[in-house]
Amino acid sequence: MENKSVFEMILAGEIDSDKIYEDEQIFAIHDINPVAKVHILIIPKKKIPTINDLLESDKNLIGSMFICAKNLAKEFGIDQTGYRLLFNTNADAMQTVFHIHLHLIGGEKLKNI
Ligand code: 5GP
Repeated sequence: MENKSVFEMILAGEIDSDKIYEDEQIFAIHDINPVAKVHILIIPKKKIPTINDLLESDKNLIGSMFICAKNLAKEFGIDQTGYRLLFNTNADAMQTVFHIHLHLIGGEKLKNI
């Protein structure tokens, strides 16, 4: 059987986490190793290893992840000051968890990418 990703283990309650949002399709947690004052991960419950594996039928799911991100940005008070949303894909982008997740990063001035 394929190994579970750390996010599947969190979803199954096998690893502790502070879920800050959850619905039928997605959940959101604080990153364990934040790169800025606010660093949240928005994660689909469906396991999709990388953005390369997205299907046409995942369009709504991906849209919901972005809506969740903008709602959390407002909730955490960074919608006006600014934030960055990103997906890392594969080795050159240093993806480490092969279950897609949208990073929401802000709460301070970020370095240029
Ligand atoms: P990636 O590098 O794949 O884009 O991002 C994976 C992210 O997951 C990293 O920022 C890492 O800190 C975070 N992460 C890895 N394991 C855990 C965990 O057990 N709990 C939480 N909350 N975040 C994790």
